[in-house]
This record gives sequence, C-alpha cells and structure tokens, in this order.
Amino acid sequence: MSATAQATTLKTRTCPLCGASDRQVLTRREAWEIVECDACGMVFIGSELAYDVQAREHDWREEHAKAASERKRKQPAFVFLSRVLKPLRPHTEERMLSQTGRWARSGKLVDFGCGDGGFLMLAKKHFEVTGIELSPRGAEISRERIGRDAILEGPVTEMAAQLPADSFDVVTQFGYIEHEWRPIDGLRAAHRLLKPGGVTVIKTPNYASWNRTIRGMDWCGYHIPAHCNYFTPRTLAEILRRAGFEPLRRPIADCLPTSDSLWMAARKRE
Ligand SMILES: [Zn+2]
Repeated sequence: MSATAQATTLKTRTCPLCGASDRQVLTRREAWEIVECDACGMVFIGSELAYDVQAREHDWREEHAKAASERKRKQPAFVFLSRVLKPLRPHTEERMLSQTGRWARSGKLVDFGCGDGGFLMLAKKHFEVTGIELSPRGAEISRERIGRDAILEGPVTEMAAQLPADSFDVVTQFGYIEHEWRPIDGLRAAHRLLKPGGVTVIKTPNYASWNRTIRGMDWCGYHIPAHCNYFTPRTLAEILRRAGFEPLRRPIADCLPTSDSLWMAARKRE
C-alpha cells in the first residue's frame, strides 16, 4: 500500500498505556510516526490500522521475512555475527517454555498470538493448550500442528471473550503485545481468563536495550507498522498493574540492557 493510501485508512491512537493525547514525535517512516506520551513516557505508533486491514495487507510472516532480508542487505556484518553466535543462544521456544516453567509446570495454558504453533508444540507436553492467532496462515499451520479445536482465529481481544473466565493457569504472550493496537484490552482479556493467582508470561522487544540506541531505526524491534508498542521494563510493568496484575521478580540475567528481548511475568491480583 502507498503511503498516501495508508494515511487514509489510519486513525489517531491515544496512548495505549494511559489514554493521554499529548505526545512528542520521535521519528517518522512513510505515513507512520513513532511518538512518546507526555504523561507516562510510553513509546508507540501514533496512528492505527483496523484489524481486518492488518490481517489482509500486513501479514506478519511476510513482513518479517521482508524486514529480515532488508537488514541482511543493509547490515551484512551484524547479520553474519548474529548467525555465528546463534548456537550459543538458547533455542527461542525452549526459552519460552523455561520462562513459563518458572511459574507454572502444568494445567491449562492459552497462548496469545500463537503464530505457527511452534511454542504450543513444546508446551503441550506439559499443559493442556489453546492458541489464538490473527493471521489466517499462522492459524491454519497451528491447527495442523496442535489440533483443529485448540486454535481460535481472529483478534485476541475478541476471540478470548469466547473462552471461559477464571479457567486458565497460564496466559503466554510471546511476541504478541507489541502487535496489539489495544494492549491494555489484551492484558484485561488475559486477566479475565486466568484463575485467581494465575500468571501471564510476556516476551516483547526491549525498547530500553542498548542495541536500540546504537542501531537507531535499523533496530530489529521496530518492524513498522507490525509492531506498534515499544515497551521498556518500566512501561510494561505499569500497563500490567493497570490491567490488574502484579509484576513478578525478574532474575538479573533478564534485566540486562544488552538484551533485545524483554521478558516479564505477572500474577493476577486477587
Ligand atoms: Zn501515556
């Protein structure tokens, strides 16, 4: 879609954390502005797409592949280094399982934005699993891998309403909240689904990472407009509190600014 056509389908977003309208524009790309809320410091894309336009014209799988090949063209040394170091990094889906296992080891789990079901394939060895996915292609692959009845297709904020309240032990959100135009609604949906004392486990790009400062607009966390919320540990903890959660203690290894990923778990307040 051209920048002009995009502009006609966009509407202004208020701050997804606190609802305020006053903001500073930090940077622009085509029709998109990245802004910082004057009231709470949340950084986000200042306008939004309807869910149906997003699903139809911004398939995450295609855009992710395009962005990866663009990075390879512009920064071959970074990409080469990242590939050389990859065997030293823990396997992403296993890391998701170990982060979840810190707080829950069995019971009912629902994965928001389950993508192609990779994490659910591992999780189903320990949990009774359900997944929700907006991308029709991702949902189809997940259904083939996990089972037809275990996957709901559509926006998380709408599909979660079809599941029973107070019935899940864990809600996992790995690479979901940065895509969600209304992240507080996504968190409230997680809160409704969880049993009292249940836990949500989140992974999202770390806007406070040194890499973001060094690489500027080439930072892998931006993905404009697929990623529309850029959380720091402070703003993620704050939005969790507003949705009725208490953020849980994070190990020091997860708090380093050298990490592009921000991992955080939070418990449903009674
Ligand atoms: Zn705000």
